[in-house]
Amino acid sequence: MDADVIIVGAGLAGLVAARETHRAGLRTIIIDQEGPQNLGGQAWWSFGGLFLVDSPEQKRFGVRDSFELAWQDWQGSAQWDRFSGEHPEDEWAARWGRAYVEFAASEKRSWIREAGIELTPVVGWAERGDLRASGHGNSVPRFHVPWGTGTGVVTPFVDAALEATASGRLSLLHRHRCDELVVENGAVVGVRGSLLESDNSVRGAASSRTIIGDFELRAPAVIVASGGIGGNHDLVRRYWPERLGTPPQQMVTGVPAYVDGRMIGIAGEAGARLVNQDRMWHYTEGIRNWDPVWPGHAIRILPGPSPLWLDALGRRLSPPGYPGTTPSRRCECFARIPKSHVTTAPGSS
Ligand SMILES: Cc1cc2nc3c(=O)[nH]c(=O)nc-3n(C[C@H](O)[C@H](O)[C@H](O)COP(=O)(O)OP(=O)(O)OC[C@H]3O[C@@H](n4cnc5c(N)ncnc54)[C@H](O)[C@@H]3O)c2cc1C
Repeated sequence: MDADVIIVGAGLAGLVAARETHRAGLRTIIIDQEGPQNLGGQAWWSFGGLFLVDSPEQKRFGVRDSFELAWQDWQGSAQWDRFSGEHPEDEWAARWGRAYVEFAASEKRSWIREAGIELTPVVGWAERGDLRASGHGNSVPRFHVPWGTGTGVVTPFVDAALEATASGRLSLLHRHRCDELVVENGAVVGVRGSLLESDNSVRGAASSRTIIGDFELRAPAVIVASGGIGGNHDLVRRYWPERLGTPPQQMVTGVPAYVDGRMIGIAGEAGARLVNQDRMWHYTEGIRNWDPVWPGHAIRILPGPSPLWLDALGRRLSPPGYPGTTPSRRCECFARIPKSHVTTAPGSS
């Protein structure tokens, strides 16, 4: 065996997993298709807003929050409705969601502090939803802003990973693209893939896909932390929710090209059960970045108080069609407007 654990993806999820495996004394290898300049993945570009429940920061603003309220909001946002059959699609999502809200209402704040994330006193009100008690969104402000925003979230984990590589217990293999999960006797026992030529493009830019070799690594545990599909419009169109009709002709992109979703299909081929592929998150208020870093680079507009929103024909938007409400409901409204487009995956700079 090459390690105790192999992690595919050196974004925030992969780095957090590596922090835990390292602390548990496990030899870990992280592979990523991108170079060292992209360590930390999307989180580096993100706003870094963190979901916490009933925190001292909320109390300072007089916000009254509780686990019960947050769990009600979470269920309203998730709109889980796939509970029939032997293995319902929403079963694990609901279990995970409840555990996550419990975490956010208890040990999460001390956990992020111990990891090195410092919070500003600011608590924003992202994703307010449709303002109904059982509808989508947060009924109180819960969006805790860290110092350094996204970089403030990801840097402690990047530093921890680099420190662990110095001790020899963690290896970071860049330009290693996973193409296959190795399955033996019904279990994943490793990864196979391609070595990509080195590429010194700036962080976030699309990098070369020229293959210069291959590799195989083995470990009793493999974690896939490869991010979403927002950089791959073909996949977004393929899994576009039926209820939203035809996907928009034009889409702009809120994430770098390496958010290609390819690994999800690879996991499926290895036997992973893929669920809820049609449930995706888009913003309608994205505009093209005048100075793009990645292909089709879009930036989401965060409006000030009382903005006036007009559609492509100059008509005033009505709820729930304007930004700040439910992304899927906004997409429904925008689907009816000619010349509208959506931004794939989160973008909130
Ligand atoms: C502009 C912006 C603002 C955001 N704001 C917020 C916010 O305020 N709050 C919030 O909670 N979230 C926010 N998000 C979302 C959040 O940042 C992401 O959900 C999160 O960072 C995703 O982390 P990840 O590790 O799962 O995936 P990624 O960061 O996408 O990392 C996945 C990694 O896997 C690698 N990979 C993929 N496939 C392979 C393969 N086959 N082989 C090898 N490597 C592979 C990729 O190269 C990448 O490095 C924002 C995102 C953006 C872009």
